[in-house]
Amino acid sequence: MKRNLTFEEISDGKRYSSSDLAKIGCGDCAGCFECCKVTEDTIHLDPYDIYSLSAGLGHSFAELMGSSVNLTVVDGVVTPYLTKRESDGVCGFLSKEGRCTIHEFRPGFCRLFPLGRIYNDDGSFDYFIQVHECPYPAKTKVKIKSWLGIPSLSRYEAFVRAWHEITANIRDCADENPALTKEANLRMLKVFFETPYNTEEDFYTQFEERVVIYQGA
Ligand code: SF4
Ligand code: SF4
Repeated sequence: MKRNLTFEEISDGKRYSSSDLAKIGCGDCAGCFECCKVTEDTIHLDPYDIYSLSAGLGHSFAELMGSSVNLTVVDGVVTPYLTKRESDGVCGFLSKEGRCTIHEFRPGFCRLFPLGRIYNDDGSFDYFIQVHECPYPAKTKVKIKSWLGIPSLSRYEAFVRAWHEITANIRDCADENPALTKEANLRMLKVFFETPYNTEEDFYTQFEERVVIYQGA
């Protein structure tokens, strides 16, 4: 029988900010690609990921859906995810040599690993270390900001909070009101994913404009 693990069981019990050092350095992965093998539907994608993939690959969301992205439902929220390669079951962006071919614009889930995010009641979040996930034996301390390698991190973190709030609102009504949840999911998909981003323009400005459209619709 499955049981929910506690924060203390999956972490070192500490919460971190992006300015903190965390023991997660893994020697540039040293030939390991363990975390790129487990890709059933676990690498969830948010609008920033879709914007980054669109910019990096030159493909719209519709084109990504025909190749490397599919949809799943997580706690009532329709969620895009990276598909696995059918021939060997690893992420489709992993090279034969075991390297990420989209390293520069890889999704936020991949950037975080083995970090996770834990959300607080006020909508803010902290980072934590998933201590059982990465098998590298002698991890070094790395500043979380450097580990993530995301430009304009404060804007990114503001986006993460806003996106969490939007999806949490859908999640919250999933059990009580399936019709409303379906309608919100369809609207969310259209506004934040299916409508193509201008990858020559700033992501955050476009996201903020879409939040207004989504909330006003
Ligand atoms: S499991 Fe750890 S060492 Fe292996 S690829 Fe992932 S982050 Fe790198
Ligand atoms: S996108 Fe890159 S880092 Fe992420 S699972 Fe695929 S190969 Fe690994």
